[in-house]
Amino acid sequence: MEIAPGIHNVITEKEPVMGVTNTYLIVGRTGAVWVDTGWDRPGEGQARVDYWKKLGSPPLRGICITHRHPPHWGNSPLIQRECGGAPIIATYQEAEAINERMKGARVDRPVADGETLSLGDKTLQFVFAPGHTYGTMAVFIQESRSLFPGDAIMGVGTSVVNPGEGEIALFLETMQKFLRLNPSVIYTGQGPMVTDPRAKINELIQHRHRREEEVLAQLRTGPKTVEQMFGAIYTGLNERLSNLAKNQVRSHLIKLQNEGRVTAEGETYRMK
Ligand SMILES: [Zn+2]
Repeated sequence: MEIAPGIHNVITEKEPVMGVTNTYLIVGRTGAVWVDTGWDRPGEGQARVDYWKKLGSPPLRGICITHRHPPHWGNSPLIQRECGGAPIIATYQEAEAINERMKGARVDRPVADGETLSLGDKTLQFVFAPGHTYGTMAVFIQESRSLFPGDAIMGVGTSVVNPGEGEIALFLETMQKFLRLNPSVIYTGQGPMVTDPRAKINELIQHRHRREEEVLAQLRTGPKTVEQMFGAIYTGLNERLSNLAKNQVRSHLIKLQNEGRVTAEGETYRMK
């Protein structure tokens, strides 16, 4: 459905809720681009191709992939094949991680921070936005100041940062970068859009600072393992969320180690 002039959120579900990857078709005077393409599940790719055809098949200038996680690029090969062979666009930093898993297509146009693509009345700016993953890319429409950050900003709650895939220090730098961009609206990777970007971004920064404080408070009372800190900070999570939460503790510990504030001996962490 069209959620703003020339901006469509194309999902097969009724509502943009958490767990559903939003996939956007941005249509300008001289062409269109996708921002993310959704899980490769039966009918999902075709539904997006059909939606584009219903709009009169506007010349497709690019298929932008915000980051390496499969729900964001799954239907890209099919869309590329069926919609005129538009280049698949991702950052230089993320291209390899996407190409490792994507079958039947590759990132054709790696982009650097600040590169642009014009759709006539809409200028798309590619924004290097690492944190959730090392090479996350946001797309920013300069004229309307609309930001598409992938999973760097969710409609509800916070974005996860898993060790090996991303880093909290980078995530916090990216949030500052988003504040400087001063978006008027955020079209999130999952969940509803954000109409008060500044409040949402500040909330995400505060959330990370609070979590770091909780980890430090644990370590101030003596050396601890991730399991011990997780047990004290989080309660009542199901198993899937427990693993994600432990990874958040680990990611905070990596940041604190890099800052020289915490050391590790085996599984045990202590204040320096
Ligand atoms: Zn993700």
